[in-house]
Amino acid sequence: MDFDLSGRSEAWLEKLQTFFDHEVLPRHRAWLAHVARGEAAPFMGDLQHKARAAGLWNLGLPELSDDEPGTRLSNLEYAPLAEIMGRLFWAPEVFNCQAPDVPNMIALQNCATSEQKARWLQPLLEAKTRSAFGMTEPDVASSDATNIATRMVRDGDDYVINGRKWFITGAAHPRCSFLIVMGVTDSGADRTSRHSCIIVPMETPGVRLVRRLRWMGCEDHVAPIGELTFDNVRVPRANLLGAEGEGFKVAQIRLGPARIHHCMRSIGLCELLIELMMVRSSERSAFGRAVIQYDTVQRWIAESRVELEQARLLAYRCAWRLDQAGHQDAWRDVSLIKVAVPAMLQRVADRAMQVFGAMGGSDDTPIHQALAWGRLLRIGDGPDEVHLRQIFRMEPMPSWSIADSPYLSAHSS
Ligand SMILES: Cc1cc2nc3c(=O)[nH]c(=O)nc-3n(C[C@H](O)[C@H](O)[C@H](O)COP(=O)(O)OP(=O)(O)OC[C@H]3O[C@@H](n4cnc5c(N)ncnc54)[C@H](O)[C@@H]3O)c2cc1C
Repeated sequence: MDFDLSGRSEAWLEKLQTFFDHEVLPRHRAWLAHVARGEAAPFMGDLQHKARAAGLWNLGLPELSDDEPGTRLSNLEYAPLAEIMGRLFWAPEVFNCQAPDVPNMIALQNCATSEQKARWLQPLLEAKTRSAFGMTEPDVASSDATNIATRMVRDGDDYVINGRKWFITGAAHPRCSFLIVMGVTDSGADRTSRHSCIIVPMETPGVRLVRRLRWMGCEDHVAPIGELTFDNVRVPRANLLGAEGEGFKVAQIRLGPARIHHCMRSIGLCELLIELMMVRSSERSAFGRAVIQYDTVQRWIAESRVELEQARLLAYRCAWRLDQAGHQDAWRDVSLIKVAVPAMLQRVADRAMQVFGAMGGSDDTPIHQALAWGRLLRIGDGPDEVHLRQIFRMEPMPSWSIADSPYLSAHSS
């Protein structure tokens, strides 16, 4: 394991940092003002154009082929770049690195036919459209994906879809043109082979965006969250992604990258939170001394640093493992970071909020959103408990017993 950045990776990191400092960060206040008025930021297209011209495009796709636009980086090379993007919730979109589109692109790269790629993947790679992934349903415990109940019934050359989905990130975006929807195609099959994934264009009759959802009062302006109903939605069989019964496989191919990218960005966000704590506490005094001089505050900052460095190493190892072994062999590592990083983000954001006092909960800082984001990541893409169960199951049982353990002193039973 060698986590030193390669010369190539360092060069891209420097390029991205410069672009972020000169082109993205100076527009942050304008971006906030636009979304507060319910408008799209008018400079996004220009920024994307510049980023793409600089090669800072589609950086989160390790399987990018030579004829696809952008720069192919390994997961490990991408990790520090994603951290920079994570400092602002909207920055990933500038580089076409935003969720849920990137995991959807990865699913399409791996599972789509060449016709599907031309129709659905290519426009995503070019940022000409947006997408969503629809698995979760209000009526069933969706952390157990075998519960997903939306029906997809074969009828001639079509599938007819009926069901309801909610908390679908990106589905309420005005430019979202299609969803990858998971549903039951064969209720009689084995529990993990009942489901399939189908590409459903948003404009298909019967697809209805019921409402836009918020999470803990926060709006996702980059990929607005939607609740949808599917009422006799008819899509051609050719829209099936992968084979019938392979819904779990498709979902898992996109979930690994979705999880690790969220973690990488969260680590960058924590770097910003530590900086905010440092500056704020050094600028204010209470009871005769600067807030930063209090042991408690120093300890919060130091503990945040310890936890952040641990999380980063774990994320790097996961990225490295994905690069070396692929999705199938990196599941344990993905679960480890999926539990560790959101919990770390939640703790660091909570400390930052305390350091900031009342301001920490206001819209003037990103702290309450960071806290909400950390909380969300403990549920979304699989709740903590599901990952912890997975981690426990992979824990090997030692071959010795307590009575004969060489690590324990002799005792009579
Ligand atoms: C902001 C946001 C965005 C989202 N975006 C998407 C999206 O784009 N697409 C999509 O399909 N879904 C999305 N989701 C949904 C998310 O993936 C689900 O909420 C999650 O999988 C949990 O499903 P559930 O809400 O049905 O909870 P349930 O399945 O009802 O689980 C509730 C709780 O039960 C407990 N539990 C479950 N299993 C176990 C276990 N094995 N052991 C112990 N306890 C357990 C856990 O505490 C869990 O939190 C999003 C959610 C949020 C909040």
